[in-house]
Amino acid sequence: MFKKLVSFIAFFALAVIQLSAQTAPTAAPIEGKSKYDQHALFGPLFYPNAGNEFRAASGEPGHAYWQNRADYKITASLNEEKNEITGSVVISYKNNSPQELPFIWLQLDQNLYDLQSRGQAKMPATGRSRYGDAKSTFSGGYKITAVQLVSAGKPTENIPYVINDTRMQLRLAKALSARTGAVSVKIDYSYVIPEYGSDRTGILKTKKGNIYAVAQWYPRVCVFDDLQGWNTLPYLGASEFYLEYGDLEATLTVPASHIVVASGELLNAQEVLTPIQLKRFNQAKGSDTTVTIRSEAEVSDPASRPAKATCTWKFSISNARDFAWATSKSFIWDAAKINLPSGKKCLATSVYPAESAGVKGWGRATEYTKGSIENYSKRWFEFPYPVASNVASNVGGMEYPGIVFCGSTAKTEGLFGVTDHEFGHTWFPMIVGSNERKYGWMDEGFNTFINTLAGDDFNKGEYKSAKTDWHQYAKYVIFVPTSEAMLNTPDVLQERNIGVALYMKPGYALTLLREQILGHDRFDYAFKKYIRDWKYKHPSPYDFFRSIENAAGEDLAWFWRGMFLENYKLDQAISKVDYIGNDAKNGAIITIDNLDQLAMPVVIEYTTKSGKVERKNLPVEIWQNNSSWKVKLNTTEELQKVVIDPDHSFPDMNSANNTWKAN
Ligand SMILES: [Zn+2]
Repeated sequence: MFKKLVSFIAFFALAVIQLSAQTAPTAAPIEGKSKYDQHALFGPLFYPNAGNEFRAASGEPGHAYWQNRADYKITASLNEEKNEITGSVVISYKNNSPQELPFIWLQLDQNLYDLQSRGQAKMPATGRSRYGDAKSTFSGGYKITAVQLVSAGKPTENIPYVINDTRMQLRLAKALSARTGAVSVKIDYSYVIPEYGSDRTGILKTKKGNIYAVAQWYPRVCVFDDLQGWNTLPYLGASEFYLEYGDLEATLTVPASHIVVASGELLNAQEVLTPIQLKRFNQAKGSDTTVTIRSEAEVSDPASRPAKATCTWKFSISNARDFAWATSKSFIWDAAKINLPSGKKCLATSVYPAESAGVKGWGRATEYTKGSIENYSKRWFEFPYPVASNVASNVGGMEYPGIVFCGSTAKTEGLFGVTDHEFGHTWFPMIVGSNERKYGWMDEGFNTFINTLAGDDFNKGEYKSAKTDWHQYAKYVIFVPTSEAMLNTPDVLQERNIGVALYMKPGYALTLLREQILGHDRFDYAFKKYIRDWKYKHPSPYDFFRSIENAAGEDLAWFWRGMFLENYKLDQAISKVDYIGNDAKNGAIITIDNLDQLAMPVVIEYTTKSGKVERKNLPVEIWQNNSSWKVKLNTTEELQKVVIDPDHSFPDMNSANNTWKAN
């Protein structure tokens, strides 16, 4: 999902004014006031368990790592009058676990929109949540009409099932055997698409027709893993998804006036496109510049679509954990080729209404999509899907494999930002399939981190962001008094804290690790290895911590503990400058203090009377024994000024005590 950062930027502007009004104070001794306890931060017991055959101590999947698999074949149609999806899904489920499975749990996420749901009960009585509205009169949810066992390709007996809120349990007559059990289940269902579906699915009304952004639209299997067994947390709105991998095929019947884009490759272009559209579609596959497949003028021309009642569009995607699609008669459609490092090509494509067209708007959406995917493929891991579809919708920003929904009113930098963010999710959680329902930071935070680099890279820095002052960021954003630790489920965090706890803070934490603690080479090597090792798998937070520590060769328990598990704050200070033997010729002793619960490496910059500027870097280990530390500087003349963290790289809450000046 996407978080608007406007309010934080306004906050920054205010912070700058306040700070510039302060003068650098003269440092004074602050002994005895520190909240810091090195035993708490550097305690040796960090991992709750030793590595095992499923998840190795090195952070790699263990030699007996397993996960189950779910393949889906979905046939569905849209009734435009009723905004209703009617579908039938055949789920082929394979049990690779060492356990016998007497039942299977499924996600019925649409049941959130039943007015009696748990999530609906959590919506605020006054005001509005991003995820819903207590005043809503829309009563949605799945209607399940049949649940049957499939054998030899045919539905046979009914399977007894229980629905509880957004979960459904299939009680199997015969348990699935450990390691080899497999079953195919057919579920017939329908539901009415909510106009506003927690900012993840919805219907946008435009002058030329509705845009349907269709997601969470079929029953999906819950993950059964070695950590938790069945992961059955209900869908309440804030927490996202945890899904199994497999191959998905969708056969979608919509009015013939519609254009459909979806996760995966369009398999029957010749059946659903006009000859001219087909020609342009194929031309786009070889073009580095954007090719219009259906122009704004053609949207009003009935000849731009086949003259029949409906069209059936077929798509397929492999190694994916989900499938989403969008359909509308209002779509302008364009596309261009994406070049991948291996030499493979795939397709970037955008659909949007006339209201969103133009070079300041969605006219560049395909260029942004292509730019983002080429960049991430080069930096981290090659984009694995045949198509990347960008859809203008009433969803602010939401990701699915091979397709994203972005706000139809987004423009220029904003449209680049949301496109880049949503396609960044291809890597987290589409390729690296972490548990979003519990650990939002493992997809949103990691994605926010890779976004910062992509923003700098796109079109020679067209949307490069200004350098962040991390001291102000710490004081006014990350460590405000109401902040919460990132290791909380999105459902438990205050809604206003989700942007900081799950996006900004973990994003910054990885930047800090890369820029200040490990360096680019060690960090990038370890991060790429984590992606490679856990592609299409389910890493836990500890698998991530272990991966980075092992590949970078660094015990980072203090960092994970302080920044991720706890919400420890940082305040580095300088309290004293003395000359050895009271003579500047002998060198200086600088006393620095660590005043809050977190510790970080220290960068000291000092300026001598004659104007020489030098730096001294100290590792975090100086804080292993004390909250106050003396540093010798080999100067031969008096000092004019000493500053800790002169570049404002560390999350120091209080810049005011970082500078010493000679009287
Ligand atoms: Zn996101």
